[in-house]
Amino acid sequence: MIIGHLPAGYLISSFTYMRTAADAVSRRLFIVFGMAGAIAPDVDLLYFYLIDDRQHHHHTYATHLPIVWAALFVACAWWLHAARFKQLPALALVFCINGFVHLMLDTIVGDIWWLAPFVDKPYSLFTVEPAYHPWLLSFILHWSFLLELAVLGAALWLWRSRAPATIRLFH
Ligand SMILES: [Zn+2]
Repeated sequence: MIIGHLPAGYLISSFTYMRTAADAVSRRLFIVFGMAGAIAPDVDLLYFYLIDDRQHHHHTYATHLPIVWAALFVACAWWLHAARFKQLPALALVFCINGFVHLMLDTIVGDIWWLAPFVDKPYSLFTVEPAYHPWLLSFILHWSFLLELAVLGAALWLWRSRAPATIRLFH
């Protein structure tokens, strides 16, 4: 997934806000943390390009392993449940939820090692053939990119449909 992570983060954070943090933290801050979590796994691209010299698929790093995000999710869910002051754990939880969803979205056309570290095998739902150069073009011209555009469209629609209500609040 290329452009879909951030809008997906906006959608998921919007939908989970009322269930997890409506009385603990502002909606805006909650969504900011959620959108940060939605792109957090891809910070490993810095390591991939600057340190690892592109020697390993960046999806094999801990930042793209489901077991890591699942463990963080469980820890944050417990923290939110147990904490007296719920602002920080609510923000941490939405960050982790979106980090985990990032891996689910990456699985559509990208390899994710779902059973690592126990099974060294990548899984993906569909394969994008490297038909064009540069490689990014193959992803953009693949049908799955329509899915990304749909996610972007849904997020923009939700954002726009909420905007008048927000404006009314401040006038
Ligand atoms: Zn990724």
